[in-house]
Amino acid sequence: MAISCSYYLEDCDTRELPRRFLEAFAAILSHSNYAPVLDAAARMKARCSRCAVSCQVYQATGELRDIPCERSELLLKVYRRYFTLSGNLKARLGGGFVLTDEHINRMAEDFYRCTACRRCKFDCPMGIDHGLITHLGRWILAELGLTPKALVVATREQLEGKTLNTSAIPVPAMKDTCEFLVEDCEDLHGLKIDFPVDVEGAEYVFFAAVSDYLMEPDTLMGNAAVMMATSGSWTIGSGDFDGINYGLFYSDRMLDRIVSAEVAEVKRLKAKKILIGECGHASRSAKFFVPTFCGGDKAPPVVNIMEYTYDQWQAGKLKLKKGVIKERVTYHDPCNISRSGWITEQPREILKHICADFVEMTPNREDNYCCGGGGGTVSVDEIREFRTLIGGKTKAEQIRRTGAKICVSPCANCKKQVAEVCEDHKLDCRVSGLHDLILLAIDAPDFMKIPKSDENEPADAGIKEA
Ligand code: SF4
Ligand code: SF4
Repeated sequence: MAISCSYYLEDCDTRELPRRFLEAFAAILSHSNYAPVLDAAARMKARCSRCAVSCQVYQATGELRDIPCERSELLLKVYRRYFTLSGNLKARLGGGFVLTDEHINRMAEDFYRCTACRRCKFDCPMGIDHGLITHLGRWILAELGLTPKALVVATREQLEGKTLNTSAIPVPAMKDTCEFLVEDCEDLHGLKIDFPVDVEGAEYVFFAAVSDYLMEPDTLMGNAAVMMATSGSWTIGSGDFDGINYGLFYSDRMLDRIVSAEVAEVKRLKAKKILIGECGHASRSAKFFVPTFCGGDKAPPVVNIMEYTYDQWQAGKLKLKKGVIKERVTYHDPCNISRSGWITEQPREILKHICADFVEMTPNREDNYCCGGGGGTVSVDEIREFRTLIGGKTKAEQIRRTGAKICVSPCANCKKQVAEVCEDHKLDCRVSGLHDLILLAIDAPDFMKIPKSDENEPADAGIKEA
């Protein structure tokens, strides 16, 4: 059988797909608690179409295949036929659905047209979680080798490679980057910062999305500036410094291994807590699955850097200048932080304070639309046109309506996707992290200030006037 998606691994074994699919499905059902979820969805006959209205992919394509319940039906059909009594009886009487190569091929394509944003779940009167069904479908397919290679190759490097991170950055290169950022922060902002590495006994071990070390210097400088200003006890671990967890997108087995590696690093460094950088799926995977896989109540607590910053600001330990960002700013709620997470107000409160012209996009908070690159699809460059022009169409319209010049997107995946959405939809708006702006607004304590010399330009050089 030919697998039609060009972005799958070329060496996946496609022989006897239906048998292998059913074996993997059965194994997952016997080792997980997905069966009750499927039972509830499989019995449901309602077709109110509210999920179609809430999905930004269907809104853009209008294709039947992109209606959330139609997509979930691909897997539910298999479940009903092979894993329920009535399906078995029907088959014995000589009728019903039969799993074929073509059906598996269709699932392999369609489960990566959903961004697993879970917006449809909150609009479904029956509470059907299509994002979760998509995740399960992807996990079964992953057991057959049917996962986009961008996700598999990165995860393999993170778990078994030489560098143990998804961007394959060697530890010396990470340390070099941190040294450059320290120098840049002095030169550009007149601020002393530090990136402690392998400090034993710190309160927090810091896991940024590792791509931040390549793509988001201002976010990292802002993170470090907050930690320095508040005398935070933190460290980066050389054994594991990557918060990315693609397991959340395609396999609970990988999800478990990646959060377990984070916890092992916290233990190695005799630290207390996990501090996640500006990344939605990294935050959600650690917050909810560290307790699941690594000891329940005894697992290290997980804190997102925006929570840390907000709490320090509220406690008076971090001073931020009011209204110093003059351009119009809006805020994109990453699905994994807001709808499937727990953070909506803290970044808004900070932005309302430091920005002179903050505007909300509509809808927002838990009801916000996905950027169009969720569920790991942002890593698949081959589908950029689908991601930005279809998946990201609603997001582009939301941003355009605000008239904002800066869209704050505190997530590594969302930053890349929203930047590409703005580019492909020709929006005059740039993407920023929250801490990039905090770096410009920080009212630094004296011990952080670098005396200005002729070579050093003023610390507020990055602030743009409207
Ligand atoms: S999870 Fe999001 S992308 Fe997937 S079907 Fe639901 S609304 Fe659409
Ligand atoms: S919103 Fe729920 S009940 Fe309505 S069609 Fe979608 S899955 Fe069915």
